[in-house]
Amino acid sequence: MHKEISRKELLKILPHDDILQQCMHCGLCLATCPTYDITKLERSSPRGRIFMIKSVARGEMELSESFSEEMNFCLDCQACETACPAGVKYGRMVEAARVVADEAGFGSKMEIALKRFALRRIVASRKALKLFSWFLKIYQKSGLQKIIQKTGILKLISKNLFEIETLSPVISEKFSDTQIKEIEMPEGEVKYKTAFHFGCLMNTMFADINLDTIDVLKKCGCKIITPKDQVCCGSLMGHNGDMKFALELARKNIDAFDKHDYDFLISNSAGCGAFMKDYAHLLEDDPEYAEKAKKFSSKIKDITEFLSEEKPDLNLASLNENIKVTYHDACHLVHAQKIANQPRNIIKSLPGVEYIELEEASWCCGSAGIYNVVRYNDALIQLERKMKNISNTGAEIVLTGNPGCMGQIKHGVKKFNVNVEVIHPITLMKRMLQLKQAD
Ligand code: SF4
Ligand code: SF4
Repeated sequence: MHKEISRKELLKILPHDDILQQCMHCGLCLATCPTYDITKLERSSPRGRIFMIKSVARGEMELSESFSEEMNFCLDCQACETACPAGVKYGRMVEAARVVADEAGFGSKMEIALKRFALRRIVASRKALKLFSWFLKIYQKSGLQKIIQKTGILKLISKNLFEIETLSPVISEKFSDTQIKEIEMPEGEVKYKTAFHFGCLMNTMFADINLDTIDVLKKCGCKIITPKDQVCCGSLMGHNGDMKFALELARKNIDAFDKHDYDFLISNSAGCGAFMKDYAHLLEDDPEYAEKAKKFSSKIKDITEFLSEEKPDLNLASLNENIKVTYHDACHLVHAQKIANQPRNIIKSLPGVEYIELEEASWCCGSAGIYNVVRYNDALIQLERKMKNISNTGAEIVLTGNPGCMGQIKHGVKKFNVNVEVIHPITLMKRMLQLKQAD
């Protein structure tokens, strides 16, 4: 990830010359790269993109449409960062390169304008997102969606539009921000002072996961502060060339949480958690916010990270004998936050769960923010591979900790006819909690 950036500033985030030399002879990351796997072309690999970025930054190569295309073909999954022995921060480089390419006018102007409008005016505005979600709910519930899908009428406009429509997630019955109190207290003594970020899409499209998170945290003995003036984390904007706006949101979140006393800020969305952990880096040159951002970021915990580290005794009930469960690593959890063992440890400790490790669990599912919407066909290649691996496990439930991955894999369930339920780990825990309470 990068700060507000100009082309010249690309130079500042280039790896040192020694590392670039090492990079030329290395290539260890190539086998982990989903786009290189498709094309087998160096320019679609992390190393190839690093060299293009270096050449553009140093003025050895002109900015071009093909440069913009390669930067946007990348999923920004950051699997290459996990593989890199030299610690190259590839994600920051590619995101900065996208900004430079967009600013130079490359890529589809219509797509850039639409992306910017949707992310700034709808996703980042709670009111507008709720309004949009209401319309989507009416469309889904009135039967209109079924008619549109059955008749295939959208195919007359574009085959992709027809496919993308089927990606739209089911809107929650009630939004979570209206159901979660600003301060939630546990039944017994307060063991942890926590805060909660309810997100933008999580709030309207995955509200139940937010409510499940609050219930599980309360059972752990958490006092939970959920400031109503919090905003979207800004990750979708930051990853899609609009870092300036993303940083405005970051400052608003820091102000909203700064007024409260808490030790852990819990996130249940891998993308939001990763981006909020990065506020410290993104705002390090801001004289007013640098220190505040450092403090804010240091308190962020993914819910699975919190539960795995604190090990609260939840005393959960078994759903039934040996339910088969597998786990898909969200890129922004495993690669961006380096959280891999924590969710597995929790899942394996759940009563009655038979855990089956997923082949290529950390290979991107193709969701990648809004990649599956703007590059549907490229994303579908990754999704098909993911669904084959999921199917091979024979699992009844696939768990994953990011709303984008959940939406994408649910799409894969329908598209490739795989018989598996896709839920967040916290939802499985909440089900077990309910059973215990019903005992
Ligand atoms: S971020 Fe993912 S898609 Fe992009 S270069 Fe790295 S491994 Fe390849
Ligand atoms: S693993 Fe790291 S050093 Fe090696 S080619 Fe990839 S980015 Fe370069």
